[in-house]
Amino acid sequence: KRLLLACPFNKKDPARYGRCHRVTLTKISFVKQHLSRKHQLPIYCSRCMSTFDTEAERDTHARASACELSPIVNLEGITEAQRKRLREKVPSGMNEEQQWFTIFDMLFPDFSPRPRTAYIDPDLSEELCSFRDFATNAGSGIMIQQLRDNGFIGDLCDSQISSLLETVITDGFQVIIERW
Ligand SMILES: [Zn+2]
Ligand SMILES: [Zn+2]
Repeated sequence: KRLLLACPFNKKDPARYGRCHRVTLTKISFVKQHLSRKHQLPIYCSRCMSTFDTEAERDTHARASACELSPIVNLEGITEAQRKRLREKVPSGMNEEQQWFTIFDMLFPDFSPRPRTAYIDPDLSEELCSFRDFATNAGSGIMIQQLRDNGFIGDLCDSQISSLLETVITDGFQVIIERW
């Protein structure tokens, strides 16, 4: 069975980008195409957070300056600079998965932990994939908080122990899913 590459946004936040689970991305160029078509950062007004089809419309709106200040909305998408970098050729000698991770790291430089794989798991249902990605991203934080709330670890638990605990718990989730 041919492995399908995942949309990097779906790997980062499966709940928010669930619809991207269904896209058929068989090669890196399709991933890039999907990103520039479906994940472009909208053109928006930074005061009222309205979005526009063109920069000219936004500028006309901004010059009228009658809009109300709204709370910042977390708009997520590819910036113009990132779009340029997506068009660059990848260094030769990189395999498909390495190329995918280069894209992922460029989009989400500080995101941790990185996804386990660049592919959509063909043996798991969409819901289980989504659960696994959620458990990998948020599971250890939730478990550590539970341990803390119940007094098993102190508030001042040093950072080395807590990052070790994080790794152990994240690995634990993988084992649970593999054995299921
Ligand atoms: Zn997507
Ligand atoms: Zn505005």
